[in-house]
Amino acid sequence: MKYISTRGAGLTSGEPQSFSSILLGGLAPDGGLYLPTEYPQVSADELRAWRQLSYADLAAKVLAKFAGDIPVEVLADLTRRTYTAEVYRNVRPGEDATEITPLLPLGEENGTQLSLLALSNGPTLAFKDMAMQLLGNLFEYALAQHGDALNILGATSGDTGSAAEYAMRGKEGIRVFMLSPAGKMSAFQTAQMYSLQDPNIFNLAVEGVFDDCQDIVKAVSNDHAYKARYKIGTVNSINWARVVAQVVYYFKGYFAATGGKSGQDGKVSFTVPSGNFGNVCAGHIARMMGLPIHKLVVATNENDVLDEFFRTGNYRVRKSAETFHTSSPSMDISKASNFERFLFDLLDRDAQATAALLAKVEQGGFDLSGTDAFARVAQFGFVSGRSTHADRVATIQDVAKRYDVVIDTHTADGVKVAREALEPGVPMVVLETAQPAKFAETIREALHREPPRPAGFEQLESLPQRVETVQNDVARVKAYIAEHTGL
Ligand SMILES: *Cc1c(COP(=O)(O)O)cnc(C)c1O
Repeated sequence: MKYISTRGAGLTSGEPQSFSSILLGGLAPDGGLYLPTEYPQVSADELRAWRQLSYADLAAKVLAKFAGDIPVEVLADLTRRTYTAEVYRNVRPGEDATEITPLLPLGEENGTQLSLLALSNGPTLAFKDMAMQLLGNLFEYALAQHGDALNILGATSGDTGSAAEYAMRGKEGIRVFMLSPAGKMSAFQTAQMYSLQDPNIFNLAVEGVFDDCQDIVKAVSNDHAYKARYKIGTVNSINWARVVAQVVYYFKGYFAATGGKSGQDGKVSFTVPSGNFGNVCAGHIARMMGLPIHKLVVATNENDVLDEFFRTGNYRVRKSAETFHTSSPSMDISKASNFERFLFDLLDRDAQATAALLAKVEQGGFDLSGTDAFARVAQFGFVSGRSTHADRVATIQDVAKRYDVVIDTHTADGVKVAREALEPGVPMVVLETAQPAKFAETIREALHREPPRPAGFEQLESLPQRVETVQNDVARVKAYIAEHTGL
């Protein structure tokens, strides 16, 4: 399996790349995103056999389709070390942690079964652990192959940074420098990151807002000499291995929703709370591989660029000032970075056309309404919907009352939108992307009580914290990294 760029590298020029050679990188040299030359297919026989597998072994099978240059025994070892009941232990009372992503049936609505796929049982209680934990082990393996080192630089407003830190802590050859806006994250998120005491994790609280942190990362990344000298890398959501890792739980969720190990194939729809389009892009890939997914429902909050596109064909990027701060903050995104991968398929894999549209994104957007490309949206099973703060609160209340289940704000956006897309006889699985403990404020508003906290998190905010405060200044950050890389 070889990889090409959505903007043409390896397709119109250069050599297609192997999985290992794009693993540690971000963007392709031409500024595009990597995709396989074609989607690997899963046969009916394979689908039947995969039903029986543990999560870890299923993950190895899926990965093997994409990472042909890594020996299968290595992949199996990596996934068995990653997807353990020990790492994904934060399940609801009564749930089986060995399932890694247990399916929680809510009930029958509009003639079909509505369920949650619990993806946030990992160390940071959000679905980003699903991919990031694997990435930590893949990176460690790849670096050891060449005796190399990597200094990961990132900016976070909450979930991504902590998922990256928990995945990379203690990893040989890897250091993490994570910029966060000083005093701007929730007490829970702050404590989760800053309480890590591992010597290879460096938390830098920047005196500024999230955009300032991101600007610093961009400035450092644009200094190619510095980047090479200090072996700077990233783990952002465009990383191809992260997307592939997310493909696995669509298979797992599909098997669970169609009767488990003794079940039979039928169609299943998924609703995905979306921001950067990474999660639902993995669903698209699973569907392209032949998994019988009926609909892929994109759920947005008030930041509804994607919903507008899927309803109308008009992709209208919002400016930073028009990006709302909502109570589902991990979806507060005005430009979905992984959308380019889907766009490439929508344009029938025409890299030139993709590059032309992406150039228009810089000017504010593009309109595909009435085109053949937009007609493919339905062919690919995509529909969408949006949700507001009032919807989240009402949905959290309703699900608690009706099913005695407390859901987080992002998952509430998903359930709200899923209910509008139910079709009789087609099971609907909503991806649960975070646990309610992370977003206590809205839970208190909706339910007038504290959200449940998994065991071990009771004292989180009172643990000692390790963080360095730095001025909002690129030179200071560069100097700090240079001093602490050991290079
Ligand atoms: C990151 C995140 C999302 C959005 O996922 P994308 O892959 O960016 O679409 C949704 N919910 C939660 C809790 C997240 O952390």
